[in-house]
Amino acid sequence: MSARNILVINCGSSSIKFALVNEAQETFILSGLAERLGSPEAVLHWRLGEHKDSLALPGADHRQALSHLLPIVQQAAAGALHGIGHRVVHGGEHFSGASRLDASSLHSIRQIAPLAPLHNPANLQGIEAAMKLFPDLVQVAVFDTAFHQTLPEHAFRYAVPQALYAEHGVRRYGFHGTSHRYVSQKAAQMSGLAVEASSWLVAHLGNGSSTCAVENGLSRDTSMGLTPLEGLVMGTRSGDVDPNLHSHLARTLGWSLEQIDAMLNHDSGLLGLSGLSNDMRTLELAREQGHPGATLAIEVFCYRLAKSLAAMSCALQRLDGVVFTGGIGENSALIRRKTLDHLGLLGLKLDEQANARCIRGIAGAIHAPDHPRVLVVPTNEERQIALDTLALLD
Ligand code: AMP
Repeated sequence: MSARNILVINCGSSSIKFALVNEAQETFILSGLAERLGSPEAVLHWRLGEHKDSLALPGADHRQALSHLLPIVQQAAAGALHGIGHRVVHGGEHFSGASRLDASSLHSIRQIAPLAPLHNPANLQGIEAAMKLFPDLVQVAVFDTAFHQTLPEHAFRYAVPQALYAEHGVRRYGFHGTSHRYVSQKAAQMSGLAVEASSWLVAHLGNGSSTCAVENGLSRDTSMGLTPLEGLVMGTRSGDVDPNLHSHLARTLGWSLEQIDAMLNHDSGLLGLSGLSNDMRTLELAREQGHPGATLAIEVFCYRLAKSLAAMSCALQRLDGVVFTGGIGENSALIRRKTLDHLGLLGLKLDEQANARCIRGIAGAIHAPDHPRVLVVPTNEERQIALDTLALLD
Protein backbone atom coordinates (compact mmCIF):
# COMPACT_ATOMS: atom_id res chain seq x y z
CA MET A 1 0.00 0.00 0.00
CA SER A 2 1.37 3.44 -0.86
CA ALA A 3 1.78 6.02 1.90
CA ARG A 4 -1.53 7.67 2.79
CA ASN A 5 -2.48 11.36 2.99
CA ILE A 6 -4.47 12.97 5.79
CA LEU A 7 -5.80 16.52 5.83
CA VAL A 8 -5.47 18.06 9.30
CA ILE A 9 -7.80 20.93 10.14
CA ASN A 10 -7.70 23.30 13.12
CA CYS A 11 -10.68 25.69 13.13
CA GLY A 12 -10.83 28.85 15.18
CA SER A 13 -13.78 31.24 15.32
CA SER A 14 -12.56 33.16 12.26
CA SER A 15 -9.73 31.00 10.95
CA ILE A 16 -8.85 27.55 9.61
CA LYS A 17 -5.29 26.24 9.83
CA PHE A 18 -4.64 23.20 7.69
CA ALA A 19 -1.88 20.81 6.68
CA LEU A 20 -1.80 17.89 4.29
CA VAL A 21 0.30 15.21 5.95
CA ASN A 22 1.74 12.15 4.20
CA GLU A 23 2.42 9.32 6.64
CA ALA A 24 5.88 8.67 5.15
CA GLN A 25 7.10 12.30 5.26
CA GLU A 26 7.98 14.59 8.17
CA THR A 27 7.38 17.76 6.13
CA PHE A 28 3.89 18.73 4.98
CA ILE A 29 2.90 18.44 1.32
CA LEU A 30 0.61 21.46 1.69
CA SER A 31 -0.05 23.84 4.58
CA GLY A 32 -1.80 27.12 5.12
CA LEU A 33 -4.32 29.31 6.80
CA ALA A 34 -7.70 30.83 5.97
CA GLU A 35 -8.19 33.88 8.17
CA ARG A 36 -10.60 36.75 8.91
CA LEU A 37 -13.44 34.45 7.87
CA GLY A 38 -16.85 36.11 7.91
CA SER A 39 -15.34 39.51 7.07
CA PRO A 40 -14.72 41.38 3.79
CA GLU A 41 -10.97 40.71 4.31
CA ALA A 42 -11.29 36.91 4.40
CA VAL A 43 -8.30 35.34 2.70
CA LEU A 44 -6.80 31.90 2.08
CA HIS A 45 -2.98 31.52 2.18
CA TRP A 46 -1.22 28.26 1.33
CA ARG A 47 2.17 26.80 0.67
CA LEU A 48 2.61 23.87 -1.71
CA GLY A 49 6.22 22.68 -1.60
CA GLU A 50 8.25 25.83 -2.24
CA HIS A 51 5.33 27.64 -3.89
CA LYS A 52 3.33 30.19 -1.84
CA ASP A 53 -0.02 31.59 -2.93
CA SER A 54 -3.11 33.32 -1.61
CA LEU A 55 -6.70 33.96 -2.65
CA ALA A 56 -9.04 36.73 -1.44
CA LEU A 57 -12.41 35.29 -0.35
CA PRO A 58 -14.44 38.36 0.67
CA GLY A 59 -17.19 37.42 3.11
CA ALA A 60 -16.40 33.68 3.00
CA ASP A 61 -17.43 31.53 5.97
CA HIS A 62 -15.78 28.26 7.09
CA ARG A 63 -17.65 26.16 4.55
CA GLN A 64 -16.86 28.45 1.62
CA ALA A 65 -13.20 28.59 2.61
CA LEU A 66 -13.04 24.79 2.80
CA SER A 67 -14.73 24.45 -0.59
CA HIS A 68 -12.03 26.68 -2.11
CA LEU A 69 -9.40 24.63 -0.35
CA LEU A 70 -10.78 21.34 -1.70
CA PRO A 71 -9.35 21.52 -5.26
CA ILE A 72 -5.97 22.66 -3.90
CA VAL A 73 -5.91 19.67 -1.55
CA GLN A 74 -7.01 17.28 -4.29
CA GLN A 75 -4.24 18.52 -6.56
CA ALA A 76 -1.60 18.33 -3.81
CA ALA A 77 -2.71 14.82 -2.83
CA ALA A 78 -2.91 13.74 -6.48
CA GLY A 79 -6.52 12.68 -5.80
CA ALA A 80 -5.50 10.37 -2.93
CA LEU A 81 -6.93 11.78 0.30
CA HIS A 82 -7.58 9.09 2.93
CA GLY A 83 -9.11 10.96 5.85
CA ILE A 84 -9.46 14.20 7.77
CA GLY A 85 -8.21 14.81 11.30
CA HIS A 86 -9.76 17.67 13.25
CA ARG A 87 -8.18 19.32 16.26
CA VAL A 88 -10.78 19.75 18.99
CA VAL A 89 -9.80 21.67 22.10
CA HIS A 90 -12.00 20.10 24.78
CA GLY A 91 -12.96 16.46 25.07
CA GLY A 92 -14.12 16.69 28.70
CA GLU A 93 -14.09 13.34 30.54
CA HIS A 94 -15.84 11.69 27.59
CA PHE A 95 -12.84 11.41 25.27
CA SER A 96 -9.60 9.80 26.43
CA GLY A 97 -8.39 9.32 22.86
CA ALA A 98 -9.15 10.24 19.27
CA SER A 99 -12.66 9.47 18.07
CA ARG A 100 -14.27 8.86 14.68
CA LEU A 101 -16.76 11.59 13.94
CA ASP A 102 -20.35 10.44 13.70
CA ALA A 103 -23.71 11.60 15.07
CA SER A 104 -22.92 10.28 18.55
CA SER A 105 -19.41 11.79 18.90
CA LEU A 106 -20.66 15.11 17.49
CA HIS A 107 -23.41 15.12 20.10
CA SER A 108 -20.81 14.60 22.86
CA ILE A 109 -18.58 17.40 21.56
CA ARG A 110 -21.59 19.72 21.56
CA GLN A 111 -22.44 18.74 25.14
CA ILE A 112 -18.88 19.54 26.26
CA ALA A 113 -18.98 23.01 24.62
CA PRO A 114 -19.86 24.89 27.86
CA LEU A 115 -16.39 23.90 29.16
CA ALA A 116 -14.72 25.58 26.13
CA PRO A 117 -17.23 28.18 24.95
CA LEU A 118 -14.76 29.94 22.65
CA HIS A 119 -13.08 26.90 21.15
CA ASN A 120 -15.40 23.90 20.78
CA PRO A 121 -18.14 25.75 18.84
CA ALA A 122 -15.49 27.01 16.39
CA ASN A 123 -14.04 23.50 16.06
CA LEU A 124 -17.57 22.20 15.41
CA GLN A 125 -18.16 24.73 12.66
CA GLY A 126 -15.17 23.33 10.77
CA ILE A 127 -16.16 19.72 11.41
CA GLU A 128 -19.70 20.26 10.18
CA ALA A 129 -18.51 22.06 7.05
CA ALA A 130 -15.93 19.35 6.30
CA MET A 131 -18.45 16.56 6.83
CA LYS A 132 -20.81 18.16 4.31
CA LEU A 133 -18.04 18.73 1.78
CA PHE A 134 -16.31 15.36 2.20
CA PRO A 135 -19.19 13.01 3.13
CA ASP A 136 -17.34 9.87 2.02
CA LEU A 137 -14.11 10.46 3.94
CA VAL A 138 -13.42 9.13 7.42
CA GLN A 139 -13.15 12.12 9.79
CA VAL A 140 -11.60 11.96 13.22
CA ALA A 141 -11.53 14.34 16.20
CA VAL A 142 -8.28 14.59 18.18
CA PHE A 143 -8.64 16.35 21.53
CA ASP A 144 -6.15 18.64 23.33
CA THR A 145 -7.39 17.29 26.65
CA ALA A 146 -7.48 13.54 25.88
CA PHE A 147 -3.86 12.73 26.77
CA HIS A 148 -4.41 14.11 30.28
CA GLN A 149 -7.32 11.79 31.08
CA THR A 150 -4.77 9.53 32.81
CA LEU A 151 -4.12 12.11 35.57
CA PRO A 152 -4.78 10.54 38.95
CA GLU A 153 -7.69 12.05 40.86
CA HIS A 154 -5.39 13.71 43.42
CA ALA A 155 -3.84 15.66 40.52
CA PHE A 156 -7.03 16.62 38.69
CA ARG A 157 -9.36 17.63 41.57
CA TYR A 158 -9.62 21.18 42.91
CA ALA A 159 -10.18 21.59 46.64
CA VAL A 160 -13.70 22.98 46.16
CA PRO A 161 -17.04 21.40 47.16
CA GLN A 162 -17.36 18.02 45.49
CA ALA A 163 -20.74 18.81 43.91
CA LEU A 164 -18.98 21.27 41.60
CA TYR A 165 -17.02 18.35 40.18
CA ALA A 166 -19.79 15.76 40.25
CA GLU A 167 -22.51 17.98 38.80
CA HIS A 168 -20.63 20.60 36.80
CA GLY A 169 -17.37 18.98 35.71
CA VAL A 170 -15.22 21.50 37.61
CA ARG A 171 -11.79 19.81 37.62
CA ARG A 172 -8.39 20.16 35.97
CA TYR A 173 -8.41 18.87 32.36
CA GLY A 174 -5.11 20.12 30.90
CA PHE A 175 -4.43 21.09 27.28
CA HIS A 176 -1.62 20.81 24.67
CA GLY A 177 -1.97 17.04 25.12
CA THR A 178 -1.20 16.27 21.46
CA SER A 179 2.09 18.14 21.73
CA HIS A 180 3.11 16.69 25.12
CA ARG A 181 2.42 13.18 23.81
CA TYR A 182 4.27 13.72 20.51
CA VAL A 183 7.44 15.21 22.00
CA SER A 184 7.64 12.78 24.94
CA GLN A 185 7.49 9.88 22.45
CA LYS A 186 10.17 11.52 20.30
CA ALA A 187 12.32 12.14 23.39
CA ALA A 188 12.18 8.43 24.24
CA GLN A 189 13.12 7.51 20.64
CA MET A 190 16.01 10.01 20.64
CA SER A 191 17.29 8.49 23.90
CA GLY A 192 16.97 4.84 22.89
CA LEU A 193 14.31 4.26 25.59
CA ALA A 194 10.95 2.52 25.30
CA VAL A 195 8.09 5.03 25.58
CA GLU A 196 6.41 2.64 28.08
CA ALA A 197 9.46 2.74 30.35
CA SER A 198 10.49 6.39 30.27
CA SER A 199 9.77 9.43 32.38
CA TRP A 200 9.79 13.10 31.29
CA LEU A 201 9.12 16.65 32.32
CA VAL A 202 7.88 18.51 29.24
CA ALA A 203 7.71 22.30 28.78
CA HIS A 204 5.56 23.34 25.79
CA LEU A 205 6.32 27.06 25.46
CA GLY A 206 4.52 29.02 22.78
CA ASN A 207 1.92 31.75 22.86
CA GLY A 208 0.15 29.35 25.21
CA SER A 209 2.45 27.42 27.53
CA SER A 210 2.15 24.41 29.80
CA THR A 211 4.25 21.80 31.58
CA CYS A 212 3.50 18.09 31.81
CA ALA A 213 4.83 15.09 33.74
CA VAL A 214 4.79 12.06 31.43
CA GLU A 215 5.51 8.63 32.92
CA ASN A 216 5.60 5.46 30.83
CA GLY A 217 3.78 7.20 28.00
CA LEU A 218 0.98 8.56 30.23
CA SER A 219 0.29 12.10 31.42
CA ARG A 220 0.43 12.16 35.23
CA ASP A 221 0.11 15.90 35.84
CA THR A 222 0.00 19.13 33.85
CA SER A 223 -0.06 22.84 34.61
CA MET A 224 -3.24 23.92 32.79
CA GLY A 225 -6.55 23.27 34.49
CA LEU A 226 -10.27 23.70 33.88
CA THR A 227 -9.26 26.23 31.21
CA PRO A 228 -5.98 27.08 29.47
CA LEU A 229 -5.49 30.06 31.82
CA GLU A 230 -4.05 28.12 34.76
CA GLY A 231 -0.34 27.61 35.28
CA LEU A 232 2.54 29.31 33.52
CA VAL A 233 3.02 32.91 32.42
CA MET A 234 2.00 33.00 28.72
CA GLY A 235 2.00 35.53 25.87
CA THR A 236 -1.08 37.43 27.05
CA ARG A 237 -2.41 35.07 29.77
CA SER A 238 -1.56 35.58 33.43
CA GLY A 239 -1.29 31.94 34.44
CA ASP A 240 -1.80 31.37 38.19
CA VAL A 241 -3.01 34.29 40.25
CA ASP A 242 -4.65 34.39 43.66
CA PRO A 243 -8.26 33.32 42.98
CA ASN A 244 -9.32 36.19 45.26
CA LEU A 245 -7.98 38.62 42.67
CA HIS A 246 -11.43 38.50 41.05
CA SER A 247 -13.31 39.66 44.13
CA HIS A 248 -10.54 42.13 45.01
CA LEU A 249 -10.82 43.85 41.61
CA ALA A 250 -14.61 43.76 41.69
CA ARG A 251 -14.66 45.28 45.19
CA THR A 252 -11.91 47.87 44.85
CA LEU A 253 -12.21 48.89 41.18
CA GLY A 254 -15.78 47.84 40.39
CA TRP A 255 -14.63 45.65 37.50
CA SER A 256 -17.12 43.27 35.89
CA LEU A 257 -16.39 39.57 35.35
CA GLU A 258 -16.01 40.26 31.61
CA GLN A 259 -13.37 42.94 32.29
CA ILE A 260 -11.44 40.67 34.65
CA ASP A 261 -11.66 37.78 32.17
CA ALA A 262 -10.37 39.94 29.32
CA MET A 263 -7.56 41.36 31.46
CA LEU A 264 -6.36 37.90 32.59
CA ASN A 265 -6.60 36.34 29.12
CA HIS A 266 -5.60 39.17 26.77
CA ASP A 267 -3.72 41.92 28.64
CA SER A 268 -1.56 39.91 31.06
CA GLY A 269 1.35 37.48 30.81
CA LEU A 270 4.48 38.65 28.98
CA LEU A 271 2.52 41.57 27.49
CA GLY A 272 1.20 42.77 30.83
CA LEU A 273 4.49 42.39 32.69
CA SER A 274 6.62 44.02 30.00
CA GLY A 275 4.17 46.69 28.89
CA LEU A 276 5.73 46.04 25.49
CA SER A 277 4.89 42.78 23.70
CA ASN A 278 3.59 39.23 24.02
CA ASP A 279 6.29 38.05 21.62
CA MET A 280 9.40 36.52 23.16
CA ARG A 281 11.64 37.55 20.26
CA THR A 282 10.71 41.20 20.75
CA LEU A 283 11.27 40.89 24.51
CA GLU A 284 14.71 39.29 24.12
CA LEU A 285 15.83 42.12 21.83
CA ALA A 286 14.42 44.77 24.18
CA ARG A 287 16.13 43.11 27.16
CA GLU A 288 19.47 43.33 25.37
CA GLN A 289 18.87 47.06 25.08
CA GLY A 290 18.12 47.32 28.79
CA HIS A 291 14.29 47.57 28.71
CA PRO A 292 13.25 47.02 32.37
CA GLY A 293 9.76 45.63 31.58
CA ALA A 294 11.11 43.10 29.07
CA THR A 295 13.84 42.07 31.53
CA LEU A 296 11.30 41.54 34.31
CA ALA A 297 8.86 39.64 32.06
CA ILE A 298 11.62 37.19 31.09
CA GLU A 299 12.72 36.74 34.73
CA VAL A 300 9.15 36.01 35.89
CA PHE A 301 8.49 33.70 32.91
CA CYS A 302 11.57 31.57 33.64
CA TYR A 303 11.18 31.48 37.42
CA ARG A 304 7.53 30.46 37.22
CA LEU A 305 8.34 27.86 34.57
CA ALA A 306 11.11 26.37 36.75
CA LYS A 307 8.76 26.30 39.74
CA SER A 308 6.16 24.47 37.67
CA LEU A 309 8.69 21.89 36.43
CA ALA A 310 9.86 21.28 40.00
CA ALA A 311 6.22 20.84 41.07
CA MET A 312 5.59 18.40 38.16
CA SER A 313 8.52 16.27 39.35
CA CYS A 314 6.31 15.19 42.28
CA ALA A 315 4.31 13.12 39.78
CA LEU A 316 7.33 11.06 38.65
CA GLN A 317 9.19 8.16 40.26
CA ARG A 318 12.26 8.77 38.12
CA LEU A 319 13.47 11.42 35.68
CA ASP A 320 14.83 10.47 32.25
CA GLY A 321 14.96 14.08 31.12
CA VAL A 322 13.45 17.50 30.58
CA VAL A 323 12.05 18.35 27.14
CA PHE A 324 11.63 21.85 25.67
CA THR A 325 9.25 22.45 22.77
CA GLY A 326 6.96 25.10 21.18
CA GLY A 327 8.10 28.34 19.52
CA ILE A 328 9.96 29.56 22.63
CA GLY A 329 11.16 26.13 23.81
CA GLU A 330 12.53 25.25 20.36
CA ASN A 331 14.22 28.60 19.71
CA SER A 332 15.21 30.44 22.83
CA ALA A 333 18.56 29.36 24.26
CA LEU A 334 18.20 32.23 26.77
CA ILE A 335 14.89 31.00 28.22
CA ARG A 336 16.17 27.42 28.46
CA ARG A 337 19.31 28.56 30.26
CA LYS A 338 17.60 30.94 32.68
CA THR A 339 14.97 28.29 33.52
CA LEU A 340 17.52 25.56 34.20
CA ASP A 341 19.56 27.98 36.35
CA HIS A 342 16.69 27.74 38.87
CA LEU A 343 16.66 23.93 38.81
CA GLY A 344 20.09 23.08 40.22
CA LEU A 345 18.46 20.97 42.96
CA LEU A 346 17.19 18.57 40.25
CA GLY A 347 20.83 18.19 39.17
CA LEU A 348 20.21 19.78 35.76
CA LYS A 349 23.10 21.44 33.94
CA LEU A 350 23.40 22.74 30.39
CA ASP A 351 26.06 22.40 27.73
CA GLU A 352 26.06 26.05 26.59
CA GLN A 353 27.28 25.31 23.07
CA ALA A 354 24.75 22.56 22.47
CA ASN A 355 22.05 24.86 23.87
CA ALA A 356 23.01 27.61 21.39
CA ARG A 357 22.93 25.12 18.47
CA CYS A 358 19.38 23.85 19.03
CA ILE A 359 17.26 26.52 17.32
CA ARG A 360 14.96 26.69 14.28
CA GLY A 361 13.77 23.13 14.29
CA ILE A 362 17.05 21.47 15.25
CA ALA A 363 16.43 18.73 17.80
CA GLY A 364 19.10 17.60 20.20
CA ALA A 365 20.52 17.04 23.66
CA ILE A 366 21.66 20.21 25.42
CA HIS A 367 22.78 18.90 28.84
CA ALA A 368 26.31 18.74 30.21
CA PRO A 369 27.89 15.26 30.27
CA ASP A 370 27.00 13.15 33.33
CA HIS A 371 23.93 15.25 34.10
CA PRO A 372 20.24 14.40 33.56
CA ARG A 373 19.07 14.73 29.97
CA VAL A 374 17.72 18.02 28.66
CA LEU A 375 16.36 17.77 25.11
CA VAL A 376 15.00 20.19 22.55
CA VAL A 377 12.31 18.43 20.50
CA PRO A 378 10.34 20.35 17.84
CA THR A 379 6.67 19.63 18.22
CA ASN A 380 4.46 18.59 15.31
CA GLU A 381 0.84 18.53 16.42
CA GLU A 382 -0.44 18.19 12.84
CA ARG A 383 1.60 15.03 12.31
CA GLN A 384 0.38 13.54 15.59
CA ILE A 385 -3.24 14.33 14.61
CA ALA A 386 -2.65 12.66 11.23
CA LEU A 387 -1.12 9.59 12.91
CA ASP A 388 -4.10 9.34 15.30
CA THR A 389 -6.47 9.62 12.33
CA LEU A 390 -4.59 6.87 10.49
CA ALA A 391 -4.68 4.64 13.58
CA LEU A 392 -8.49 4.85 13.52
CA LEU A 393 -8.57 4.11 9.78
CA ASP A 394 -6.64 0.87 10.32
P1 AMP B 1 4.13 29.20 19.07
O1 AMP B 1 2.84 29.60 19.73
O2 AMP B 1 4.56 27.80 19.43
O3 AMP B 1 4.17 29.48 17.60
O4 AMP B 1 5.27 30.14 19.70
C1 AMP B 1 5.24 31.54 19.57
C2 AMP B 1 6.29 32.14 20.49
O5 AMP B 1 7.59 31.63 20.13
C3 AMP B 1 6.38 33.66 20.40
O6 AMP B 1 6.51 34.22 21.70
C4 AMP B 1 7.68 33.86 19.63
O7 AMP B 1 8.28 35.08 19.94
C5 AMP B 1 8.50 32.71 20.15
N1 AMP B 1 9.68 32.50 19.30
C6 AMP B 1 9.73 32.11 18.01
N2 AMP B 1 11.01 32.15 17.55
C7 AMP B 1 11.77 32.60 18.60
C8 AMP B 1 13.17 32.87 18.76
N3 AMP B 1 14.03 32.70 17.77
N4 AMP B 1 13.59 33.31 19.97
C9 AMP B 1 12.72 33.50 20.98
N5 AMP B 1 11.40 33.27 20.88
C10 AMP B 1 10.93 32.83 19.71
